[in-house]
Amino acid sequence: MGSFIDHQEILDTLEYAQKNKGNYELISQIIAKARECKGLSHREAAVLLECDSQEHNHQIEELAKHIKEKFYGKRIVMFAPLYLSNYCVNGCIYCPFHLKNKNIARKKLSQDEIRKEVIALQDMGHKRLALEAGEDPDNNPIEYILESIDTIYKNADIRRVNVNIAATSVENYRKLRGAGIGTYILFQETYHRETYEKLHPSGPKHDYDYHSYSMDRAMEGGIDDVGIGVLFGLYSPAYDLTGLLMHAEHLEEVFGVGPHTISVPRVLPSNKVSDETFAKIVAIIRIAVPYTGMIISTRENMQMREKILALGVSQISGGSRTSVGGYSMPEDGSAQFEVMDTRTLDEIVNWLLKLGYMPSFCTACYGQGRTGDKFMSMVKSGKIADHCNANALATFKEYLRDYASEETRETADRYFRKGK
Ligand code: SF4
Repeated sequence: MGSFIDHQEILDTLEYAQKNKGNYELISQIIAKARECKGLSHREAAVLLECDSQEHNHQIEELAKHIKEKFYGKRIVMFAPLYLSNYCVNGCIYCPFHLKNKNIARKKLSQDEIRKEVIALQDMGHKRLALEAGEDPDNNPIEYILESIDTIYKNADIRRVNVNIAATSVENYRKLRGAGIGTYILFQETYHRETYEKLHPSGPKHDYDYHSYSMDRAMEGGIDDVGIGVLFGLYSPAYDLTGLLMHAEHLEEVFGVGPHTISVPRVLPSNKVSDETFAKIVAIIRIAVPYTGMIISTRENMQMREKILALGVSQISGGSRTSVGGYSMPEDGSAQFEVMDTRTLDEIVNWLLKLGYMPSFCTACYGQGRTGDKFMSMVKSGKIADHCNANALATFKEYLRDYASEETRETADRYFRKGK
């Protein structure tokens, strides 16, 4: 099968970027184009990544901050992951859930346990979850995922359940849509086929084409909002950034709407992608696809989260547990990755306010059917900002009233007084 991830085009792009990394006239033109807020091609983005002129890199950073502020204002959307099961038949070398790992506690939540988990999450103040489960047709069939989504919506005031499960069929995506999911999220991990196949030596995920076409099938199945991502550090960041942007271009071309979100996890410790390169990648994604939300997890520590919030990230997780049942049961060795930012949701809300951001628990677009191209055209025309500001404020006030600590309420008072 021919793939929209054209290896030769990526190699040509990287060569073009190397050749032009000192072509400051071209770099200035690309930055000027990005200033129009209509995005950049993967080739243009690749040139910016290679650019080593301090002055131009500073301009890229400032522009990313400007675009972030223009489209997202001070709002930061909050969410939490919910791990349903760590049974998995895949062999992903970098993930402790892989089939051959005998040193991890295997666990799958019952519906009653899910109910306890979501009540715990609701009682922290969360309204938006990202559901996570390993791929295992026996332990985690689609029926289990659908039943779990139903349990969540019926038992707690959770208003948007995003789903991060393995690549599946159009028919199953249709079922997920029927269950009322928000965004379907799946990371490509790396776009480099050979590396991908080595890192995923066994299980259904080994099939690069089936995995990379999952968003096409999801959209065919009626899911409007899809979220893509790379695990930066598995392969060369320049290659993966190019592949990621080609993926966004492909979705836009075929379905008329690009990804709703891009996630930027990074392999840690960061010996493959330095903090500096990582921050630059975030800034470049921000200016290359200005309408796409960007997500960062608690893999990153507080300092890095602070830096990349300014450069483009619009959604962050808070108070996260990456173990199965971690919100209502003691830690038991079932976690997927170590959480670097271990603060509670309330502590993160307080911190965001002190940095001048407004935490948002809004899910209104989803509730009112503003998804897919309807959402994107509102963002592009600038019409979404009014909705967002009002909704962010209303949901944040709801959080303050129902869940915030006294200290956070006082910080919020100061935040609002300053804003007047
Ligand atoms: S990354 Fe996903 S598919 Fe791979 S082993 Fe982990 S849970 Fe399974």
